[in-house]
Amino acid sequence: MTVRVSPDSSNSPDNRYSITLRRGIGGLKAHTMAQFMDVVSLTKGIRSMFYMVTPNESSFENVEDVPPYVQQATPFFMGLMVVELVVSLLKDGTPLACVSDVVTSVSAGIISRMPTLFARGFEITTYIYVWDNLRLLELPWDSAWAWWLAFLAVDFSYYWVHRFAHEMNLLWAAHQVHHSSEYYNLSTALRQSLTQQFSSWVFYLPMALAVPPSVFAVHIQFNLLYQFWIHTEVIRDMGPLEWVLNTPSHHRVHHGRNEYCIDKNYGGALIIWDRLFGTFAPEGDKVVYGLVHKINTFEILHIQFHYYKYLWRRFNRYKNIFNKLGVLWKGPSWKPGKPRLGDHAEVPEVTGEELPYNPSWPLALKVYVCIHGLMLLGVYQDLFESRLILSQVTVLMMTGYILLSLTSIGFIIDQRPTASMLELLRCVLMMMLLRYGYMMAPAPLVVPIEAFVSISLLYWGLQTFSQLIAVKKKTT
Ligand SMILES: [Zn+2]
Ligand SMILES: [Zn+2]
Repeated sequence: MTVRVSPDSSNSPDNRYSITLRRGIGGLKAHTMAQFMDVVSLTKGIRSMFYMVTPNESSFENVEDVPPYVQQATPFFMGLMVVELVVSLLKDGTPLACVSDVVTSVSAGIISRMPTLFARGFEITTYIYVWDNLRLLELPWDSAWAWWLAFLAVDFSYYWVHRFAHEMNLLWAAHQVHHSSEYYNLSTALRQSLTQQFSSWVFYLPMALAVPPSVFAVHIQFNLLYQFWIHTEVIRDMGPLEWVLNTPSHHRVHHGRNEYCIDKNYGGALIIWDRLFGTFAPEGDKVVYGLVHKINTFEILHIQFHYYKYLWRRFNRYKNIFNKLGVLWKGPSWKPGKPRLGDHAEVPEVTGEELPYNPSWPLALKVYVCIHGLMLLGVYQDLFESRLILSQVTVLMMTGYILLSLTSIGFIIDQRPTASMLELLRCVLMMMLLRYGYMMAPAPLVVPIEAFVSISLLYWGLQTFSQLIAVKKKTT
C-alpha cells in the first residue's frame, strides 16, 4: 500500500515533521532490525565453528541451497586467531605463533580452496554422481534423526579418510602439508592440502547410497569447521568431554612427532572411533610438533608438492615391483622387511627441547608481508563472492595472481635471492589490476593502497637493481 501526499499538504511544517518522524521511526526499525540480524548471523557464525547448530537451521532440500559455511567462516577464523594470540600473551607472556608460520598456514588454506573457484568440490561432485545414479534408498532431508545419522556417518568416514592419509604413503603425500607446521595454534588448522580432496572422496561414497547430497554438504563443512578450534595450546583439558569429543589435547597428540604420538588420534569431531579401533593415545610427554623429517621452508608450493618428488625418487630406487608398490601403498616409514607402518622405534628421538625452524628476518619486512597478506585475503574473499558473475578468464587470471603472490611472499619469508625480482613483478601486476579495475579497494583506502603499492614497487625495483649491479660486478 502506498500513501500519496499532496504537494500542498506535504509542505506544511506539521506534515514535514510527521513525514520525517515516520521516516525516522521506519529508519530506526530498519536499523534495529539490521542490527538484530547482524547479531543473529554473528552468533550463528560462531556456533558454526563448534558444530553447535540444530537440524532445523541447517537442513536444505537442494544441495544448491546449502550455504558455503567454510567460505563464510574466514572472518571467524581471523577473529578467533586474534583472540588466541591475546589469550596466549596474557597467559604466558609469549605468543604461540610466529609471522612466518601463520602466513604460510593461511596461504596453504587459500591454495587448498582454489579448485572450488572453478567447480564444485571434488568430494561433493562425486557424491552427487553416486546419489543420482546408484542410490539404494532416500533418507529424508528434513528429519532430525537423518541429520544426526549423517553427522555420525560423516565423522566415521572422516576417521578412515584421515587414517588412510597417514597409513598410505601416496595419500600421506597430500596430508603431510597439514602436519608441516612446527607450531600448534589456530592457524595450523588452515594449513590444508590442495590435493587431499582428490583421494578423500572415495571414503564418503557409501553414504551417497542413502543420504541426500544436501545433508552431506552440510556435515562435511561443519566437520571441517569443528576441527579449527582444536588446534590450540590455550585449552589444556576439557574434563569429561575428553571421553567423547576430539579436543585440543587429543589433536595435539595427533600433530606430535614424539614416538607415542605417531599414527594416533585420527578423529574429526568425535574421539570414539579412535577408542574403538585402537588408535587412541592420551597426551603425555610434552608434544613436539611437525614432520618427523623437517622441511625447513616457508615456500608454499614446495610444502604442497615436495613429498610427491620424494615419493617418485623412492619409487624408482627399488627394482622389485612389490617394493615399488610398497612405497606407495604402505606407511611413510615402511622399508622392505619392516612391518606395514614401519618401525616407530626408528623415528628420530625428541627431547622436548627442540625449537621450531624460525630464521630471523627484518621487522619492517614482517609488517610488509602482513599488510600485503591482508590485502590478498581481501582479493581472495572478493573473488569467491563474485566468481559467478566473472568470466572464467578473469577468475583464472586472478587465481594466477593469488598463486604468484603467495609464492612471492613465501620467497620473501625464506629470504631467497630471487624474492626481490618476483615481488617486483607481483607489484607491477598488482598496480595494473588496480588500474584496470580488476581489484577494487574500499573508497577511503584507494589512495593509501595505491601509495603503498607504489612505494613497494619502488623498493623492490631498487633491490632488484642493486642485486643486478652486484652480479655484474662479480662477473667482471
Ligand atoms: Zn593428520
Ligand atoms: Zn590438525
